[in-house]
Amino acid sequence: MGVNIEPERFEQLVQRAFDALPKSLQLENLPILIDEEQLKPTGKPNEFIAGEYFGCTHKNLGWHECAVAKRVVVYKKAVELGAHNEKEVLASLVTLLAHEIGHALGFDEQKLRELGVTLVP
Ligand SMILES: [Zn+2]
Repeated sequence: MGVNIEPERFEQLVQRAFDALPKSLQLENLPILIDEEQLKPTGKPNEFIAGEYFGCTHKNLGWHECAVAKRVVVYKKAVELGAHNEKEVLASLVTLLAHEIGHALGFDEQKLRELGVTLVP
């Protein structure tokens, strides 16, 4: 397992994954950022966080959370580690973006699981 993709190419794949999402998930004003360096463990052996959503959600509008700039961060290294080839990278990016944007819309892990957008490999 594991691929190594040029940063520019990876950016294109993230854009392609975003374009493949249903229009209802293509939120405006929600930057999708790529972190090329960090590899954050999930707590389980050899499992790393592929993406994170930062910011308040539609259900959680406390001022403190809202003070955080809304954004989705994609952890390039974790995505690469979980894939055998570019096709798998693209597929996991589609699920990842749907999942993280789902959080922005206020869905919790359980709801996302019901909807079939889980990140567990
Ligand atoms: Zn999640």
